[in-house]
Amino acid sequence: MIPGARLILLGRQGAGKGTQCVRLSRHFVVPHISTGDMLRAAVREGTELGIMAKQVMDQGNLVGDEIMVGIVRERLSQADAVGRGYILDGFPRTVPQAVALDDITSQLPLDAVLDLDVPREMVLERLSARRVCRDCGTNYVASGTEKSPWICEVCGGDVMHRDDDTPAAIDHRLDLYEQQTSPLIEYYREQGRLVVIDGVATPDEVFRRLTSAVDSMRRPS
Ligand code: AMP
Repeated sequence: MIPGARLILLGRQGAGKGTQCVRLSRHFVVPHISTGDMLRAAVREGTELGIMAKQVMDQGNLVGDEIMVGIVRERLSQADAVGRGYILDGFPRTVPQAVALDDITSQLPLDAVLDLDVPREMVLERLSARRVCRDCGTNYVASGTEKSPWICEVCGGDVMHRDDDTPAAIDHRLDLYEQQTSPLIEYYREQGRLVVIDGVATPDEVFRRLTSAVDSMRRPS
């Protein structure tokens, strides 16, 4: 295993992206850069960005491209991302964001764009049961037997139901994914960087598929 990689993980919300990104970031020793986590941190801190983002997120809409590109440009310029790479989770979400990312990464191009493919009917079910640590972003699946309050095993924070995981907001987000994010799959396929991973398997098997796809993309031909 070669540490360091510049990766994007695409896929519908609820496909298991967050959990796989955490594992990939440990495996390749790179920061996990989740734009959703960054926005939720801004909401908690009550910054100007957070106040604006909360409204947009609670309705299941997308924050404007210009704002998102600015956040990601700044984050990718930090030493850890420049030196070791990163795994981007939740960005890009629109073609204009992908075009801007090509510009941001022109000196240090992406190694691979992975698309974690899980059918829509399956993610709907998973999202309704999803819970998340409000402090570190670790995802959990509720079985209904958890103690209250539910404490995160990783950091001791509160495990909550996300404000934007209501059935109406989930449905709206999945529609937005089809309209705005799925064109990215064609965009990256044309660039020859896309690897589609079948995400219907155990988490360990999906992780194995992801890492072997990255290794084969990076192997010199
Ligand atoms: P996520 O945690 O990736 O599901 O993101 C939660 C919410 O944050 C999304 O539903 C959007 O409202 C917002 N968001 C996160 N990333 C982006 C992005 N790249 N572009 C626009 N909005 C975003």
